[in-house]
Amino acid sequence: MGLSACSSGTDSPASASSGSPSSVGSSAGAQIKVVASTDVWGDLASSIGGDKVQVTSIITSPDADPHEYEASTRNQLSLAKATVVIENGGGYDDFIDRMLKSAKNPSATVLNAVTISGKKAEGGGELNEHVWYDFPTVKKVVDQLELAYAKAAPEDAATFQRNADALTQKIDGLAQQEATLRQKYDGQPVAITEPVPLYLLDAIGLQNKTPEEFSEAIEEDSDVPAKVLSETLELYSKHQVKVLAYNAQTTGPETEKVLNAAKQNNIPVVPVTETLPSGKDYVGWMSANLDALATALGQ
Ligand SMILES: [Zn+2]
Repeated sequence: MGLSACSSGTDSPASASSGSPSSVGSSAGAQIKVVASTDVWGDLASSIGGDKVQVTSIITSPDADPHEYEASTRNQLSLAKATVVIENGGGYDDFIDRMLKSAKNPSATVLNAVTISGKKAEGGGELNEHVWYDFPTVKKVVDQLELAYAKAAPEDAATFQRNADALTQKIDGLAQQEATLRQKYDGQPVAITEPVPLYLLDAIGLQNKTPEEFSEAIEEDSDVPAKVLSETLELYSKHQVKVLAYNAQTTGPETEKVLNAAKQNNIPVVPVTETLPSGKDYVGWMSANLDALATALGQ
């Protein structure tokens, strides 16, 4: 399923100028052109750049699955003109690398959040690529965005630093929220449908009880073996978990069975997504996620 392309509100229609897509960041008054693979990274990029940057986010729909995104020629054009590109990496948004290659824009600074995180897959497993749920990683990405902007527009470096510092402080506040929850709920059993929120759950000390075969099958869109599904459903019927963190963006018959099992057994459900819910910025979104978890765990 391909999504239609849409971009953030700050994206202006393609300009009429032609010529080589060289860096435009340093000319006075010009905005730094930034392309982000999803509106999560795009929102962070906007927070740091303010009105000095023009951010185009490629994936913005909270109703669709970013893993299945197919890119358009309009996005290709944005990438050809970008001075800074922020991608998630880890196989999440490979279309960016493919498009960058054909966009012939070798001068763009390309930031890869998974690479910046320094995380590696553990012992034969797959790396959880949903690194925007990991606050230490997000802080590192904020630093790198600030540096990339300062390189593109040195005259505005102080502004970028001020914005990045303010954002980092807010992210520290989110980490503090996690730590507070950890004091209360460390070791509590929970369940997921997909690995999406795992970094956040880990940071609170919550134990994910979902069979890995289940969440992997859901993420990869493959069939869940009957035995694995019944094992998963028992988590709810036998009240072995306190909360279900449910990826509202990737749903199908199997995840719906899980959702129903949680509801039937009065196990609180916390919906999570892979893109920004409308009307929220990154910090507001993550804060709401933590509040929702706190409420669910307190039930
Ligand atoms: Zn995902």
